[in-house]
Amino acid sequence: MSKKDIKSMTYGELCDIMKQSGVPAFRAKQLFSWLYKVESFDEMTNLPKDMRAYLNENFYIPRITAEQKLVSKLDGTTKYLFSFEDGEMIETIVMKYKHGNSVCISSQVGCRMGCSFCASTMGGLVRNLTAGEMLAQYEYVNRDTEGGVSNIVIMGIGEPLDNFDNLVRFLKNINDENGLNMSHRHISVSTSGICERIRELADMKLQITLSVSLHAPNDEKRSRLMPVNRKYGYDELLAACDYYTSKTNKRISYEYTLIAGVNDSISDALTLASVMKDRLAHVNLIPVNEVKGKEQKASNAKRVKDFAEVLTSKGINATVRRTLGSDINASCGQLRRNHKEKVGEENVLR
Ligand code: SAH
Repeated sequence: MSKKDIKSMTYGELCDIMKQSGVPAFRAKQLFSWLYKVESFDEMTNLPKDMRAYLNENFYIPRITAEQKLVSKLDGTTKYLFSFEDGEMIETIVMKYKHGNSVCISSQVGCRMGCSFCASTMGGLVRNLTAGEMLAQYEYVNRDTEGGVSNIVIMGIGEPLDNFDNLVRFLKNINDENGLNMSHRHISVSTSGICERIRELADMKLQITLSVSLHAPNDEKRSRLMPVNRKYGYDELLAACDYYTSKTNKRISYEYTLIAGVNDSISDALTLASVMKDRLAHVNLIPVNEVKGKEQKASNAKRVKDFAEVLTSKGINATVRRTLGSDINASCGQLRRNHKEKVGEENVLR
């Protein structure tokens, strides 16, 4: 039997395991709080030796290694290329804001959603990350960042709702008062729009913010950019988002990346405004980050401004996202791809 990632076990599950093995309940509490302080079971000095031996035999603590760390000279944005024990890599980004530091974490190695503008999806999905591997990204950068990290956005490589069980474990564990005790109000989850999972998340009534990658004003344009829209159409997605708002009272953040000549016309803005009207929504406009090997170009600054003005003039809450870390290629998925390409070249040379 292969060992399990212990940080993916919830506190309740650890309590059950302890109970079944006849270990007193307080040991689960000790173990759970140790998990966020040390890197091996042997360091958990107040646990009995036989319990540590049992843990070593059945579980592992996921380890993460920083292969690369790039710091933007422009704004301090920091990008990490992390590897896991099996050699797979993901990216994690720390963004510095006046109100505090925010970390963007990855949820999968690669992605299978196939969005036409995105670098993360280019090699397809390799594997899901465990909850422990998601937590490890936060823990590492929290230690490595002056002043720590106060907000988490799950907006890195991968589709979090395509890795639902691990996502939920991550959300439970980070919020557990016996562990990291971080409020869900400081966490956002971004999705390309897997409707039944949005509804499932809504039913859990967590206080996380849901970001939805919309990127188009209608079905036809969205299907061209995002294959997921062929499975869950535009209206179905909006209905799932409305359901999320009705259950949680939370405003949805709609992401809209502006691609020149594709989804950035004034008529697109007007259509988007009518879609957003009467919804508890915020629209986040992002000029597309140009990806090597893809032809999409970013809308120019004037068009971005005009697009935003159309929305605000119609009473829609909209902002243009500040571009951070442009000197370090901060858009997710690009560093991992560059690394893969380089390794590929080296292999050819050898
Ligand atoms: N799979 C999730 C989360 C990861 S992507 C999702 O789709 O929401 C995080 C955000 O970056 C999404 O809004 C995604 O559409 C956007 N994105 C991906 N590639 C981009 C690019 N080249 N330029 C701008 N935004 C991009």
